[in-house]
Amino acid sequence: MKRNIILFYAFLWFLPVFAQSDSTVTRIIEIARTDNRTMQHLDVLCNRFGGRLVGSDAYENAANWAASKFREWGMQVEMDEVGSVPVGFNRGPWFGRMMGEESMSLHFVTPSYTSGTKGVQRGHVMAEPKTREEFNRMKGRLKGAWVLITGKSNGFPIDFSAESDHRRDSIIEANMKTMEMNRAGKSKDPKNYKAVEPFDEPALFYREMREAGILGIIQSAPVPLVALYDRNNIMDMTFENLPVTPDIKLDEHQFELIERMVKERRQVILEFDIRNFFKPGPVKYHNVIGIIPGTEFPDEYVIMGGHLDAYDVATGGVDDGSGVTPTMEAARLIMAAGGKPKSTILVMLFAAEEFGLWGSQHWVNQNTEKLGFISNMFNRDYGPLPPVSISVTEAMWNDMEQICRPLNNINPDFPFELKKREPIERPEKPWGTDSGPFAVAGVPTLSFGLEDVKGYNFSYREIWHTERDTYNMSIPEYQEHAAVVTAVVVYGMACLNHLLPAEGYYK
Ligand SMILES: [Zn+2]
Repeated sequence: MKRNIILFYAFLWFLPVFAQSDSTVTRIIEIARTDNRTMQHLDVLCNRFGGRLVGSDAYENAANWAASKFREWGMQVEMDEVGSVPVGFNRGPWFGRMMGEESMSLHFVTPSYTSGTKGVQRGHVMAEPKTREEFNRMKGRLKGAWVLITGKSNGFPIDFSAESDHRRDSIIEANMKTMEMNRAGKSKDPKNYKAVEPFDEPALFYREMREAGILGIIQSAPVPLVALYDRNNIMDMTFENLPVTPDIKLDEHQFELIERMVKERRQVILEFDIRNFFKPGPVKYHNVIGIIPGTEFPDEYVIMGGHLDAYDVATGGVDDGSGVTPTMEAARLIMAAGGKPKSTILVMLFAAEEFGLWGSQHWVNQNTEKLGFISNMFNRDYGPLPPVSISVTEAMWNDMEQICRPLNNINPDFPFELKKREPIERPEKPWGTDSGPFAVAGVPTLSFGLEDVKGYNFSYREIWHTERDTYNMSIPEYQEHAAVVTAVVVYGMACLNHLLPAEGYYK
C-alpha cells in the first residue's frame, strides 16, 4: 500500500511534464493531418524561385523567404554569413535546334557559371582537331563553327584557364612525340610494330579554337543530363573577365547522329540561344538558421536541417527540396502546436552544400563551443521517402522508445520501428552531405531509415544533380509524413531533461 502511494505521488510529479509534451505532440500530429504545408513550401522553392545555386538571385530569394517564414511562425532567425562568390550567376532559358531536312530540337544543358550565346547563334559543325596538322588544315573554317569535342560529359565544363591551356599544350607535344615514334616504328617493322594511341583530351586545341572564333564546344552527355558548375574558375572570375565560350553538353543520342553526319562531311547547321546571365559581385550567401529557444536548457541543442542550395539546371525539387521542406514544416508544426522545448531547436538550411559542404562546415567551425551540447543533428538529403525506422544505441534506447511511441499513431501505412545500432567509427573526413562535418566533430547524426513503402519506383540516381530534379519528382504523402515524424522526434528529444546519451554512438 505504502509503495503504491509513493508510486502514485511519483506519478503525479511526472505527470505535468509528460502531459505537456504529450499534448503538444498530439497537436503536432493533428495539425499535420489537417493542414500539412510541406508541398506548399516545395512549390514556392521550386516554382517561384527556381534552381537555388549559390550566387543566384533564386538562392537569395529562397533564403530571405525561409527566414521570413520562420519569423512568421514565431521563431528567431539568424542569417549566418558563410562567404561570398566574386560574381553571381542567373540561368535563363535555353534553346537549340538542328536546321535543315533532319530538323530537330536539341536536348542539352550548360554548366552554371559558363557563357551563354550572343543571342541566337547559327553555325556549321566541325569535329575538333586532334593534331597540329589537323588544326592547321581546318583553322580557316573554325570561325563561326560549333565544334564537337571528344569524351563524355561529367557535368563540369571544360576548364578554360591558362593553367589548363598549358596542360593541353604539353599533351599536344607529347602526342606529337608519340606519333613520331609510331611513324619510326612502323617504317622499321611495318608488320609487327604496335602503334601507341595518342592521349585523348577533350578540346585539346581549346585556346587556339577560341582565338579562331568558334561559337562554342559541344560534348556528348549521358541522359538524364547533368550540369554542375565551373568549380575550377568560379573564385577567380571577375565581371570584367567572364567566360566567353558556350560549353554545351548534348544528349548523347543526338550527338552520335550529328557526329556521324559531320564524319560524312555533310552540312550540319545548328542554332543555339542560351541565356546564361551573370551579376557583379561579391555575392554573399548565408545559412538560414531558425531558432526555437529552449525554456530550461537554452545552451543544449537538437538540430534538424537540409541544404537550401541546389543545381539550377532543374529546381532542386528533391535535392534538397526533399530535406528542406519537411524540415521547415516540422518547425512550423512545433510552433503551431505551441511547442515549448526545454532545449533549443536549431533549424538549419545550409548554403553551398553542392559546392562542398561549405555552409555546414562553416557553422561547425564557428560554433565549436556548442558541439558537445547537441543531442543529435538530423539531416535529410536522401530523397523524398518516408521515415520508417531509426537505429539507436543502447544508451539512447529508453529515451528514444518514449519519444518514438506516438509515431505509430500517425498513419497505418507507415509503421515505425526502433532498431538497435552498433557503435560506428567516427569519420576523419566528412561524408557527402551536411551531417558530415558534424560527425567529424563527434556530434551524433542519427538519421531515419527510409523506404519506398508504396513502391513509387523512385530512383535517386535519376534525379541526383540532373535536369529531372523538379517539383513533380517529389512524393507528397512521403514528404508530408517525413515532416510530422521529424517534428515529433525532434520535439521529443528537445523535451528531455538531459542530452541524449552519446556514449556508445562512436567507437
Ligand atoms: Zn543534396
